[in-house]
Amino acid sequence: MTDTAATAVDVAANLAAVKARIAAAAKEAGRDPAGVRLVAVAKTHGHARIRPAILAGQRRYGENRVQEAAAKWPALRAEFSDLRLHLIGGLQTNKAREAVALFDAIETVDRPKLAEGLAHEIERQGRRPDLFVQVNTGAEPQKGGVLPLAADALIAHVRGLGLVVAGLMCIPPADEEPGLHFALLADIAARNSVAGLSMGMSHDYEIAVRFGATHVRVGTAIFGAKE
Ligand SMILES: *Cc1c(COP(=O)(O)O)cnc(C)c1O
Repeated sequence: MTDTAATAVDVAANLAAVKARIAAAAKEAGRDPAGVRLVAVAKTHGHARIRPAILAGQRRYGENRVQEAAAKWPALRAEFSDLRLHLIGGLQTNKAREAVALFDAIETVDRPKLAEGLAHEIERQGRRPDLFVQVNTGAEPQKGGVLPLAADALIAHVRGLGLVVAGLMCIPPADEEPGLHFALLADIAARNSVAGLSMGMSHDYEIAVRFGATHVRVGTAIFGAKE
């Protein structure tokens, strides 16, 4: 995982550039840049790329697989106590225990059974990760997320379990105007009084900021291509 000259990625410089662009997009939209949190998506990347980001002050990270996160993060967390880890990939109900133990935010709550499994573990472990409901705004069969028309009911179900819905999350279809999907997600959040909006990736995070993102999930623009 050591970078050779040919593959060297200047993570600290990339991070600074992304943060500057987030701040500029926020100001342009009349928003406080502090209202947009950067989740640095570290999937597939090893400590050689993650460590420079931590040393540059980045504290919030995203992973899409429980196993990978469990292998990579405990050692870093032992060294840096204030890291925050977001699960941004699909979660099987039988991994709810591990996910609640490991993550500070779970962004992929997309069905009642998973919400119930998380509620059980949150109660059992006394750990309360922030929960985001993932909405499949493009109704793509291969993607996780509750369908837009079922989102209100799932949000109500999660709340009925005594849990707080910290935000909504979406991944727009690759070939569609992302702004339409961000607007739809913002709409669902507003009518349900949900505060958080996790939306925007390397290619569209500035658009997401314009549409009210409170969390943007940026991987490639910081860490380079997947390893
Ligand atoms: C990988 C991933 C990202 C980051 O994507 P980039 O295009 O590398 O910025 C964001 N969100 C989710 C759900 C992901 O799986």
